[in-house]
Amino acid sequence: MALDRSELIKALTLDDFTPYYQMADEMRRRKKGNEVKIRAIIEISNICARYCTYCGLNAANAKVHRYRMPENEIIETARRAVSVGYKTIVLQSGEDPGLDIEEIGRIIRDIKAMGEIAVTLSLGELDEKEYRYFKECGADRYLLKHETSDPKLYGRLHPDSDLETRIENLRTIKRLGYETGSGFMIGLPGQTVESLADDLLLLKTLGCDMAGMGPFISHPDTPLRGNGHGDTEMTKRVVALARLLLPDANLPVTTALGVLSQKERLEAFSCGANVVMRKTTPDPYRKYYEIYPADIPSADIPGDRLALEKMLDEIGRKGV
Ligand code: SF4
Repeated sequence: MALDRSELIKALTLDDFTPYYQMADEMRRRKKGNEVKIRAIIEISNICARYCTYCGLNAANAKVHRYRMPENEIIETARRAVSVGYKTIVLQSGEDPGLDIEEIGRIIRDIKAMGEIAVTLSLGELDEKEYRYFKECGADRYLLKHETSDPKLYGRLHPDSDLETRIENLRTIKRLGYETGSGFMIGLPGQTVESLADDLLLLKTLGCDMAGMGPFISHPDTPLRGNGHGDTEMTKRVVALARLLLPDANLPVTTALGVLSQKERLEAFSCGANVVMRKTTPDPYRKYYEIYPADIPSADIPGDRLALEKMLDEIGRKGV
């Protein structure tokens, strides 16, 4: 659908957004059917060298108990997830300078050997040769959110980086043949509706195959503590417009949306989303991976998957 910047801004600020929700839902049905892809996330390390001002894992936060999962536990967790039906394993970490590249390569190969399983990486910015190596090892997708397309705001959120570098990384990932995922936050302090429209257009310019949009949630141990949370209605509008701009993309209902409101999360499935990500990180690590504050129950990979499939069933969708 040809939505230009001014139409996007107008849509985002409408009193009644219902027609766009209906169009997005219809587009989702046409392009993706009723299936909801359920992805397993394993948070393999919460060590991070960066100072992103919104993130609980930032290097300055001395309150975090830091961990790096051993290789055998990562493989074992992936095996358990695959055994209950997961077909995508997402390996996620902070920008951990101590990650062993060859070890990650072995993990990718081992997971790929488990069957028809897709491996998604979300390990932050890497060198081109590392992206290439992981691709050769069999990684299928890479997630690297741009977080905001406003260069000044980006600079304030990421004191040790800039937007241009981020975009360059995303272009490299795409060029290397990864299914490429980006995304951004809604409700950042100082963010404008105009910049949200630019965020959406950037996803299109980059040719994103996946895009995750979620509300900003302030973390008490970060420089952005005390700022209000992002608006869930605005988040759903953004997801709906992303579906119209990128009809074939995989769009997750972000975990952050569910943290704010279970109802909103269910509704997000009717405004264009077709993916849900589940944390399958084992205890004791899972409670230490806290980008934003959330209640994190103990790990129950089969039970959690079953409950989610049941919930999707109840709203007429099928978890796959
Ligand atoms: S957002 Fe990512 S890179 Fe930034 S501090 Fe958090 S884990 Fe590190």
